[in-house]
Amino acid sequence: MGRYDGRVAVITGAARGIGFGTAQRFAAEGASVAILDLDESSAQEAAGRLELVDGAKAVGIGCDVVDGAAAGDAVQRVVDELGGIHVLVNNAGITRDNLLFKMTEDDWDLVMNVHLKGAFNMTKAAQKHFVEQRYGKILNLSSVSALGNRGQANYSAAKMGVQGFTRTLGIELGPFGINANAIAPGFIATEMTDATAARVKMSVEDFRAAAAESNPVKRVGFPEDIAAAAAFLCSDEASYITGQTLYVDGGAKLG
Ligand code: NAP
Repeated sequence: MGRYDGRVAVITGAARGIGFGTAQRFAAEGASVAILDLDESSAQEAAGRLELVDGAKAVGIGCDVVDGAAAGDAVQRVVDELGGIHVLVNNAGITRDNLLFKMTEDDWDLVMNVHLKGAFNMTKAAQKHFVEQRYGKILNLSSVSALGNRGQANYSAAKMGVQGFTRTLGIELGPFGINANAIAPGFIATEMTDATAARVKMSVEDFRAAAAESNPVKRVGFPEDIAAAAAFLCSDEASYITGQTLYVDGGAKLG
């Protein structure tokens, strides 16, 4: 008996990285899973790689979370094809790093839109079902960068915004049996951080080694580390936890 037997989880930006790792974990614990990503064929391919428990299903759906109508259509497709919706993970994300004086308005808008408007669009579409059934779990991806990070004025503002959004969801939706929490990852080895290595002209190995050295547990994080925390926070074991942000960062911001 898995913690997610009979549950349907929707994860945005889940064709790879943290989103895919989280999809794998929910699937292993019995959930049916909808993988949403910009490119439908990548989403479908990722859904096809999930190892499902007997009776569970997976679907891959192309959806730009910035587009409110597309977000609404995707949630409806999940309900129609998988028979409901119980968990929403707002994971889709991008970076457009630059020092403030070089950051363009487009880079500011895009990052705000994907992280904040995307989470708003998806949550608004899902909460209709959650409120009706008096049950739902929302998990938003913040970041240690919410606390400030050089070259990430747009991203850190968006990721702190995600924390405020999460607290407000906790207040508004708690009375309807809905929990909303956030995870703020530290350095997680994915294509996102590999791209940052390339931008700062370091090899992936050296960049990861430097990140490992900068935290107390002396290793980088992996999608599985975030997935384990996500599987707890979206479970019924965490039903007395809402509006919180859990830092999963190897203690990077303790000192
Ligand atoms: P990733 O490997 O770059 O994956 C992100 C996924 O989101 C990609 O598949 C991407 O699609 C998709 N995506 C981008 N814009 C989208 C949109 N508008 N609609 C739907 N999907 C979209 O990133 P990750 O490292 O797994 O990060 C996942 C989340 O964790 C993000 O919110 C990120 O900010 C956060 N986070 C990551 C780290 C880290 O160290 N990796 C640390 C803290 C927080 P395309 O490939 O088509 O662009």
